[in-house]
Formats: sequence, structure tokens, C-alpha cells
Amino acid sequence: MTVYLDNAATTKPCRKAVEAINEALTFNYGNPSSLHRMGLNAQLTVDSARKSVADALGCDASCIYFTSGATESNNLAVRGAASCYGKRKRRIIVSSVEHASVAETMNELESYGFEIVRVRPGAGGKFNPADFVNAANENTCLISMMLVNNETGHILPVKEVFTVLKRRYPDIVTHCDCVQGFMKIPVKASALNADMISLSGHKIHAVKGVGALYIRKGIRVKPLVSGGKQEKGIRSGTESVPLIAGFGAAVKQLTPTIGERFEYVKGLRSFLLEKLSGIDGVTLNSPADGSPYVINISAAGRRSEIMLHYLEQEEIYVSSGSACSKGAQSGVLAEFGVNQKDADSALRISMTADTTEEELEKFVLVLNEGIRKIKT
Ligand code: PMP
Repeated sequence: MTVYLDNAATTKPCRKAVEAINEALTFNYGNPSSLHRMGLNAQLTVDSARKSVADALGCDASCIYFTSGATESNNLAVRGAASCYGKRKRRIIVSSVEHASVAETMNELESYGFEIVRVRPGAGGKFNPADFVNAANENTCLISMMLVNNETGHILPVKEVFTVLKRRYPDIVTHCDCVQGFMKIPVKASALNADMISLSGHKIHAVKGVGALYIRKGIRVKPLVSGGKQEKGIRSGTESVPLIAGFGAAVKQLTPTIGERFEYVKGLRSFLLEKLSGIDGVTLNSPADGSPYVINISAAGRRSEIMLHYLEQEEIYVSSGSACSKGAQSGVLAEFGVNQKDADSALRISMTADTTEEELEKFVLVLNEGIRKIKT
């Protein structure tokens, strides 16, 4: 039995997504910009996927721009808004636990002379909304905060911060990386008070290479690339109709069951934590009120990579830290107050609604065995 517990890294494409992709590859291979019927059919497929994503976010379809994934969406949002709004206002606020696609972009903007204020969590890994609000001033052009942390499942107080900021400084542009929240917890553009929202296809049972950026009407972003002005000039380049069709199909299928799946995965999380509590030395790095989809533990001082490969021999797949950095530590666990020894033995278990208790039981059994066999 394969036990795939690395769903924060990527998910298995669902049948609906694969079917939509096959359909587009086989029959609907026109270029959406072509003026003939095959072009129109391709355009209709893209528009239908755009509507599915928009419906899920509770926004107008005209606010959704397809990209190659959330790395591009995050770059487009942060660089694009900084270019348009950061000529005189040079301060940008960001959490200290962002994905590299935001964090590295901020480092680069800093090297161009932007003042980047990185807000850190307090004791217990909790972010205080007031710390973000107090970091803002009249000179601030942009704030970027993720909704759910990809390494630990911490949920950041995005709505609280954006709502207060918008009241105090209506001109600050608000961006949220919702990659690990979308289709798992309710994500509505207006409720979050977000001007821009980044999404990724392959984290929600579509495939790699497609994502989206929500851009609220009236918000300007400078495109990253110039060309044929597809996606209203925001993202030039022929649209990947099959990948976009797959993304739309996955979103459409998952939208009605967000609440149901959340409750199920919450149950799985309790089951897993209960089983893990029976193993000496295993500690939890995720908060009790985090996303149940992502659980970070430290495995009794056994090095993450050794344990990861031990589990792999039994066809159990987890991550050490996050998969994005090829196992290298990102520093995010330290930000959340995890000490170096525990960070060195951290494992990320990330689930989906397809995960079963039987799979978790196998994981716990083999983890326990690994702890007994692997030396500290
Ligand atoms: N943001 C977060 C929070 C993520 O977890 C990831 C994927 N690890 C990304 C952005 C990047 O997404 P993509 O793989 O679609 O570029």
C-alpha cells in the first residue's frame, strides 16, 4: 500500500482534471487567440475554467488571470504592484514565514531600495495582527501575507490585518498567497479584503504548470513579460488550454465539498495525533488551531532525511520541511519557535480527503520502528 502524505508538495490529479486535460489535448487544441471556430472553442474552455475559479473565490471572472503556477502569481503580484505603486511609497510589509516565491522576491526588491518590513510571530508561533498594522505608515505601498503556512499549517490573521489596514490606509495594496488554503478552507476575495490572491493548480488535484492570480478591479500590476497581450495584457503567452481546463475542472469538483472535507481531515488529524502521542519523543510543531491538512512533527531527534528515506522503503512519502527547497531548511520552523534540534528531525505530513486512517496507522507503525532503529 502506497501511503502518500506529501500533499502540500503536490497532489494526485483528480479524474475530472485528467479528463478535462485529455479532452482539450485530443479535440480542443486550437489557440484561443485564433479567430476561427477552433480558436473560439479553446477560448470558451479557458473562460469556463475562469468562471469556476471566480465562483470559488466569490468574484467576477474578469478578475482571474491564469499563470504558470503560484510562483509566477506571487512574483507578478509583488513585483507588479511594487512597480506600479512603489515609486514614491517605498515600504512593503510581509510576514517572515512566506514561501520562497514571495520571500526571495522581497529580498530582491530590498536590493533595489525598497524598505521591507518582515513581521515575525510572537511566542508560541502566533502572529499578532497589531504588529502588521503598526508596521504600516503613509509610505507603505504593499502588504503580502500567506493564508496557510506550507510547512506547519499555521493560519495567519490575514482578514483581520487587511481589514484594519484598508480602513486606515485605503491605498495600501493587499496580497495573499492562498495556495495552501484554497479549496481547503473558505477563501473569499471580499471577505479577506485582498486586492490580489495567488492560487496553484497542482496543490488542489489539478496538474503542475498552472495557477491563477486574482486581481481586484482597479488594481494595477506591471506584467512580468511582454508579448501578445493574452490575459488582458497581464500575462502574455498562449494560454495552456489543457492545464487551465484541468484546473477549472478540479476547482469545480472540489468547491461544494470544502466544509465536508475539512471536517473529515480534521478527524484524520485527531486520529494521527492520538496515535503519535503513544511514541516517546515525538513532538508537534503545528498549532492546534492550524490547518488540519498540514502537520509538522519532530521525530525524536532522528534526522529528517534519514527518517524520510526509511519511510520511503515502506512506500510512505512525507517531506522534511517543505519540498520546495529540496529538503534544505527554509528557516520558517525557526521563525515559529522550533529549536534547531527539533528542526533537524522535522517531518511534514500533509493530507487530503483521500487519506485514510489505515494509511496513517501504517505511517505511525513504520515511524515508530524507524525511531527504534535509527540512531540519534
Ligand atoms: N506558495 C505556497 C504557500 C506554496 O506552498 C507553494 C508550493 N510549494 C507555492 C507558493 C508555489 O506554487 P507553485 O508550485 O504553483 O509555483
